[in-house]
Amino acid sequence: MTNPPNTTDAVQQLIRAGAEIVQSGLALASAGNLSIRLSADRFVVTASGTWLNRLDTSSFSVMDLDGNVVDGAPKPSSEWKLHQRAYQARADIGSVVHVHPAHALLLDALQRPIRLVTLDHAYYVGSIGRTPYYPNGSDELANTAAAELHTHNCVVMGNHGSTTVGDDCDMALRRALNLENAAELTYRAILAGNGDIDFPWDAEPHLHHA
Ligand SMILES: [Zn+2]
Repeated sequence: MTNPPNTTDAVQQLIRAGAEIVQSGLALASAGNLSIRLSADRFVVTASGTWLNRLDTSSFSVMDLDGNVVDGAPKPSSEWKLHQRAYQARADIGSVVHVHPAHALLLDALQRPIRLVTLDHAYYVGSIGRTPYYPNGSDELANTAAAELHTHNCVVMGNHGSTTVGDDCDMALRRALNLENAAELTYRAILAGNGDIDFPWDAEPHLHHA
């Protein structure tokens, strides 16, 4: 995270990202939540009950890394711990995108690995962590996802959703979009009879591939 935005800019970035997420089908109705880090110990996160394509300037809570709401809407997303633990886990994370992508969740439930097919998948996703199912808003859900973020920028949380991170909101969003696109292509490949396709990693040895 190089230059964290001020709260006004961060809110505008999240409003735009929310609209793009719903337009892309990554979240339905009031599912999903987004955040941007404002400083070493503060972040702005979507508030409880918000719809990602209906966000406005009143749709956000500002929290500190201890979990206190310090400004904005009094009730943050029920999944705020996911964001808090991600920022605690890695100082370089500037934004967290949590959505409920259908193909990624379907493949995970089928215990089929998501294959990385294109250069975009290889570059933006690189590798994918996963966690078992834990109840919404629980410490276990947030802590296990944050632990996976030490190794991966993209995590699938079983039967629930994905968490992607980046140094800014655009990168976290690109990762969410590419994760779901990789899952969709994997699903189509399985229907075509091949679930083992892979990116030619040997041709791009500099890419991160955990
Ligand atoms: Zn969720």
